[in-house]
Amino acid sequence: MRLVLLGRNGQVGWELQRSLAPLGEVIALDRNSVLPEGGSGDLADLDGLRAAVRGLRPDVIVNAAAFTAVDRAESEPELAHAINAEAPGVLAEIAQATGAWLVHYSTDYVFDGSGSAPWSEDDPPEPLSVYGATKLEGERRVTAACARHLILRTSWVYAARGGNFARTMLRLAAERERLTVIDDQHGSPTGAELIADVTALVLRRVTGRDPGASAHAGIYHLAAAGETTWNGFARFVLDTARELRPDLPLHAREIAPVPSSAFPLPARRPLNSRLDTGRLRATFDLVLPPWQQGVHRMLTEILNPQMV
Ligand code: NDP
Repeated sequence: MRLVLLGRNGQVGWELQRSLAPLGEVIALDRNSVLPEGGSGDLADLDGLRAAVRGLRPDVIVNAAAFTAVDRAESEPELAHAINAEAPGVLAEIAQATGAWLVHYSTDYVFDGSGSAPWSEDDPPEPLSVYGATKLEGERRVTAACARHLILRTSWVYAARGGNFARTMLRLAAERERLTVIDDQHGSPTGAELIADVTALVLRRVTGRDPGASAHAGIYHLAAAGETTWNGFARFVLDTARELRPDLPLHAREIAPVPSSAFPLPARRPLNSRLDTGRLRATFDLVLPPWQQGVHRMLTEILNPQMV
């Protein structure tokens, strides 16, 4: 089996390089990849993308690339639309024409965040931001153009690699005695490792010998179990860091809860980002671990004394 992975250097893309490896030959591209046969891995270059992916003739296309700068999308809507909506549409057309499966990722930001119940896949999306709207349009283009699609909507992604919320909290806690962190947005921090591992398990099922596998195509919510707020996430990060590395100079004793309005940003975020993952768990017979488990593991990795 041949798999083409787009966005190989992102949080999820990086972990997919590992998790997809046992499934077959993985050809991983980033925006700077130029293929000798023609084409590129740049999602803003639709002709180049078409040429590259068509030429590689994959059995599976996994799109981990996206315009994820939520606030910047408000001032660069055309580029966000090209990468988050038009490019997935192109990938879907190729997948449909060649019989390939297409895995695409989407976001809790397709919802308006009202209420307090976890969102199900059948709830009507109502994005609050340009980023959310372009991701929703990407979903729509994928489902319209390609029968064999899997769209995994996730939330609050973190990874050991690169900058992330946990690292920011650790840095600020070393600099300040008091932190203020939002406590009115609710969701589940979800590790890139978990997303990548679930992707591989799901792909194993749909590309296996099961003749009814196409019936599993669709949209699924994928998030770690449980819920918290950014404030709760920050508390867990600092408590765990103190437990793992009592020697670290973490001065912040107070993590004050504040509403989202205390941090005015160009893009509005949903207050309720809870995702109901029942469909994914039931369809693929999976267990999704509590969010704390992945965060603990990530902190153990980044706070390893040999690494810092
Ligand atoms: P990252 O921002 O870590 O990675 C996105 C990747 O896309 C980066 O490697 C980036 O490349 C690449 N990319 C951006 N523009 C282009 C382009 N024009 N051509 C090719 N590649 C490009 O995102 P995540 O791994 O966190 O996100 C994975 C998926 O999950 C996305 O679909 C995202 O919308 C979704 N998601 C993410 C959430 C989050 O909290 N991060 C929450 C919910 C959903 P470069 O490094 O060169 O910029």
